[in-house]
Amino acid sequence: MQNKQNLIIVIFFGCFIFTACWSSDSKNKPDRTNNKSSPSPTVAETNKNSIANSKNSETSNNQMPVTEIKNGGFTANLPGEFVQPTDAVGQKLLKEYGALFVARGGATPPKTVIFKSEAEVAAFQNGLQKSKESIGGFNVELQAAAMKNLQDAIAEAKQNNLNITPRGADSAKRDYAGTVEIWASRVNPGLTHWVGKGKLTEAEAAKIRALSPFAQVPEIFKLESSGMFFSKDLSKSIIFSVAPPGTSQHLSMLALDVSEHDNSKVRDVLAKHGWFQTVVSDLPHFTFLGVAENQLSGLGLKKVNDGGRAFWLPSL
Ligand SMILES: [Zn+2]
Repeated sequence: MQNKQNLIIVIFFGCFIFTACWSSDSKNKPDRTNNKSSPSPTVAETNKNSIANSKNSETSNNQMPVTEIKNGGFTANLPGEFVQPTDAVGQKLLKEYGALFVARGGATPPKTVIFKSEAEVAAFQNGLQKSKESIGGFNVELQAAAMKNLQDAIAEAKQNNLNITPRGADSAKRDYAGTVEIWASRVNPGLTHWVGKGKLTEAEAAKIRALSPFAQVPEIFKLESSGMFFSKDLSKSIIFSVAPPGTSQHLSMLALDVSEHDNSKVRDVLAKHGWFQTVVSDLPHFTFLGVAENQLSGLGLKKVNDGGRAFWLPSL
């Protein structure tokens, strides 16, 4: 808990945040969707190509050739044209939440820490190889390599009488507007609450509401630094509830929120197929990194144990 408080403080002072989905209060909210129906028949094929096991070097979901992983740690393994954040805040955010950017196995990570508009998101998503499947009653769209490995994981899980299903309709791909909507779903009720409590004037709240979602972020962090929190239950930072606009890993189509995240066997199967947890506070959230677990450190990621789970964060 202390670690989380420290993290909150760090991010308050950083005034901005890049991270994953956080479309719900992960630790407190029960699964919105508990659909346990079988996955699409198209996924029930084979798990012989698992990242951890396969010797075939031609397909995207195998253990990566060593040449794909460069010496030099995290920074050396970022995409070639990656725009390094030059400010301390951006660098801090990359350090805390940037595992996604060294994804391999056919994944295409974004080249920037934050998408600033719908146009930027659309340009990125339009350039991807994508795949759409019906899984657990929901349409799931991911980068093709991420989907292939997810299907392999689902097939392997099924052999062990386990399910891997999305939590809801927004568990995979999102657009910029979606991240704005989710952000507003915390900010607006929070402002109303704190005005009601007399901690904030209506004029101050109105001023924040009038800002662009992007410009609201530092203002909300400023309020949180004085004890006015904006998570769904208003007890903790908004960052443990939702991602600021343009920062969700779901925009990259390399993330999935999984209903069965509490089951360690499910987490093990996902990890075997390149899906890992990369955001400490976001329990249902998995990120496709496209390598075997024993290759993660070579990509410059470090394991952080929290609450009995392993999370992989950039080692910077
Ligand atoms: Zn997520």
